[in-house]
Amino acid sequence: MARPSKCRRVEFLPNATYFKPAGIPLGDLEEISMSVEEAEAIRLKDLEGLEQEQGAEKMNISRPTFQRVLASARQKVADALLNGKAIRIIGGNFEMSWRRFRCHKGHEWELDTAVSELPELCPKCRERNVEPILPARGHHFNRGPTSFRNGCRKEAGY
Ligand SMILES: [Zn+2]
Repeated sequence: MARPSKCRRVEFLPNATYFKPAGIPLGDLEEISMSVEEAEAIRLKDLEGLEQEQGAEKMNISRPTFQRVLASARQKVADALLNGKAIRIIGGNFEMSWRRFRCHKGHEWELDTAVSELPELCPKCRERNVEPILPARGHHFNRGPTSFRNGCRKEAGY
């Protein structure tokens, strides 16, 4: 599959972005930062059950890079779980891809392929206020090829 952009691609943003162990006062808590890309690597490999090659393809990165991102993510999860640390999932340098959209008048529609640019108009009412509908947790969102343009979107502090 062609890789026209160097952007890391993410199809999913976690609903919860902060995890903390119960019973530890915030002041004593050590916090680990996990990037959205790291969370995505864990999702693809460990939740979706993809091979590393497939995960790398979906994220638009090389297999060794995917392996490195995944290893880092797993190490952080293990550290948090076993050493009682909090995890904060923070923005990274990545590009979202979307398939479903909603206009501000409430029309919803879905494209055949995921895109990284918002449509300019609602196809039903021509409303210009269009927002993506993020896939629900565990929903298999990622079928078919993805098209996207150059240039990463910086999603800081999601
Ligand atoms: Zn509409």
